[in-house]
Amino acid sequence: MVYTLVNEAPGMLRQANAGLIVADLHASFRTHRTHSLEFRKEQLRALQRGLKEFDDEFAVAFEADLNRSSYLDVSKATRAIQTTLDKLDEMTADRITSGLNEFDKSFVHLSPLGTVLVIGAWNFPVLLALEPLIGAIAAGNTCVLKPSEVSEHSTAVLTRMLDKFMDPTVVQVVNGGPEETTVLLKERFDHIFYTGNTPVGRIVMAAASKHLTPVTLELGGKCPAFITEHTDIAVAAQRIAYWKSLNAGQVCLTVDYVLCPKNLQEDLIKNVITTWHELFGKDFRNSNSYPRIVSRKQFDRISKLMESAKEQNKIVFGGKSEADNLYVEPTIVTDVTEQDGLMQCELFAPILPIINYETFDDALNIINGQEHPLNVNLFSNNQDQIDRVLKETQSGAVSVNDVSSCGMNDCLPFGGVGQSGMGRYHGKYSIETFSHPRSVMIRDQAHL
Ligand code: NAD
Repeated sequence: MVYTLVNEAPGMLRQANAGLIVADLHASFRTHRTHSLEFRKEQLRALQRGLKEFDDEFAVAFEADLNRSSYLDVSKATRAIQTTLDKLDEMTADRITSGLNEFDKSFVHLSPLGTVLVIGAWNFPVLLALEPLIGAIAAGNTCVLKPSEVSEHSTAVLTRMLDKFMDPTVVQVVNGGPEETTVLLKERFDHIFYTGNTPVGRIVMAAASKHLTPVTLELGGKCPAFITEHTDIAVAAQRIAYWKSLNAGQVCLTVDYVLCPKNLQEDLIKNVITTWHELFGKDFRNSNSYPRIVSRKQFDRISKLMESAKEQNKIVFGGKSEADNLYVEPTIVTDVTEQDGLMQCELFAPILPIINYETFDDALNIINGQEHPLNVNLFSNNQDQIDRVLKETQSGAVSVNDVSSCGMNDCLPFGGVGQSGMGRYHGKYSIETFSHPRSVMIRDQAHL
């Protein structure tokens, strides 16, 4: 029996139904259809056609969810499909190794894992669902996709697109929130790929341990922008401002806080504000392109964070918000210390706290006083400083003289370390995540 996409009323995904969906996908995997590279490519091409056909609908849905364009999600997913199609043969080819002697054939064969679960997050609702899905399909798996329920409009369009374009014996979408995800997590998968916050990451990992299912956890953290005197401050400010306002700061890789020498702070603030005005005009509230906070729950969380900064008179720019339309003004907070409320959690908001530091070592100590972030953004043209950051800090990635550039380059693995996550994907790393590197030795019988 093949299920079409499940979209039951909230709280109504019964365990038995989840079991049937997963059992069908396991059975489909065991037909070995997905082992064929041509079959995988057909699925990827279908996904590409779907993105094209639903482009206008995504645009409307993203406006409704986040008041932003869907371009980044749709174009990056389309590009990821194209790169995967172009390089699939190469990326999945057997990797020949030396044998024990000259007569052996020895190689690593990438075997698909089976049926995998992908759980997406709301801040890039299409990309964070599709990029792992592309990897799962390209590596020859069948997949249950659970997109985020928070970005309800985009998720609804995504569901309809996948319903229309994907083979239901390869991809099933299950919609719902924590309850439905809890039901799904009781089932036995061959891999679980989760994107979202760290506490839920722990829940996912605990559930996976019951079946010894391997996990990839793409989590969050506090990514610093570390400004040094060896940088063009106008360029640094422009890049920080762009990334901090993209999606209203609701980006896992974006700058969470800035480390800045006191003497560069004025220049930094001036240039950040100039960039924000260039991007959105003087009136952010009425700008067509300034994004909104995704939900009332997130808005209330951010408002609380702003309160403590307001009480301490530390806001030097912005600070306004409106619950009715989930608007939070781009905001700069100065004289921040490691003890402030803004430094106790990931902000995921258009708030830019600035901490002043005296010496390079002091700044490194502040970074190392936090859990390992997804990304350290260093602004420096000094090779010694770059080397020291590489050697003396830990993070999923390092971007030098930019913010988040690592996440945009599909030649690089994307993933966190420590509390910011485990495992990696993008490009060939997605194929590796969703495959088992199987060792094969073929020995010759004519020789000892
Ligand atoms: P979210 O609310 O969309 O949750 C993510 C997924 O977890 C959803 O599909 C949701 O249904 C599910 N979920 C929520 N609660 C659950 C529970 N109790 N049990 C089981 N499943 C549950 O997204 P979010 O967590 O608010 O996303 C923001 C966080 O994600 C930030 O910390 C951000 O840094 C991180 N993030 C990381 C990446 C990355 O690639 N590393 C990308 C985007 C977001």
